[in-house]
Amino acid sequence: MSRALKLYRLQQADTQLDQTAARLAEIERILGDNQSHQAASQAQQQAQAALHAAHTALRASEEEVTAQQKRIEQNQASLYGGAVTNPKELQDLQMESESLARRLSELEDAQLEAMAAHEQQQAAKAAADTTLAAVEAQLAGEHQALFSEQAELRVDSERLASEHETALGAVDAADLGTYNSLRASKNGVAIAKVQGGTCSACGAELSAARAQAARSAEELTRCDNCKRILYS
Ligand SMILES: [Zn+2]
Repeated sequence: MSRALKLYRLQQADTQLDQTAARLAEIERILGDNQSHQAASQAQQQAQAALHAAHTALRASEEEVTAQQKRIEQNQASLYGGAVTNPKELQDLQMESESLARRLSELEDAQLEAMAAHEQQQAAKAAADTTLAAVEAQLAGEHQALFSEQAELRVDSERLASEHETALGAVDAADLGTYNSLRASKNGVAIAKVQGGTCSACGAELSAARAQAARSAEELTRCDNCKRILYS
């Protein structure tokens, strides 16, 4: 196997390892990013709290109406029970009866408003529940796909690491130094294939002698233009 081919195989393993690592990092990021779920969950909790408040207000309003009805019953019992006969007292009871009835009417209006507000919050809570459930179902589907991809990529990583190990073992130390510095300075591509007489990395046309030299098993040949090692 030529020196250039050994380096080319090492580069293929490195490139695939880089791509796998990048995708795994991207998957980690997506799995960790649960903004849509947080927003839906927060909205649902707020709707829950608002419904609870509306429920408490409605209960209080109902109790006020009931208490007022009791006051009216007591007033009516005094007014028509026969125990009170004094005309002035009866007149006072009559005035109180009218005042109590007016107040009851106000309290009943307030109760109707509280009922309407409670119904509105019930609907808002149901909508928030539905949204949260939809977001959770969507995430579950997405995450399932990502988890299987992640598992496959981890298996790939192990296989690639072993291929990388083999390729690395075949390269001699001096060539590895050259390869590493080229990979660092040439955007990860240290070795370029010769394709149709040109350098596949930069597209420069190679002289016939250069293209021929790239076939050598013993020597490394560089592209005149981009200085990458040529492999033919
Ligand atoms: Zn080139």
